[in-house]
Amino acid sequence: MTTQVNKTEQEWRQELSPEQYAVLRGKGTERPFTGRFVDTKDNGVYRCAGCGAELFSSDTKFDSGSGWPSFTEPKNTENVELHEDRSHGMVRTEVTCKSCGGHLGHVFDDGPGPQGQRYCINSCSLDLDTSAN
Ligand code: FE
Repeated sequence: MTTQVNKTEQEWRQELSPEQYAVLRGKGTERPFTGRFVDTKDNGVYRCAGCGAELFSSDTKFDSGSGWPSFTEPKNTENVELHEDRSHGMVRTEVTCKSCGGHLGHVFDDGPGPQGQRYCINSCSLDLDTSAN
């Protein structure tokens, strides 16, 4: 089940930190190796920092060397949406939270898992819930 979250830009600005707002609502990218979850090995479920939707399991997190938290797959493919992104002179696939529309990062096809995918996600788009898995 996916809950649709619709908030005004003013509400998002009040709820999110400036960095979270720039990434989630402005499709920004945090600088590599600066996010709080880059090297995190704790078990749990990574939730959307905007709306709390379950996005990634720590079981699928791996060290990509990219400087951003990286996952082989979403916890539930129905909780994310993929969009073609032609910004910055590149063709990439953007990953957003289906529930709130927040920008999470991008997915690339050079990952290590069976699907060969690397979900490259901004730390500040995520919260780690260590009570779930
Ligand atoms: Fe969300």
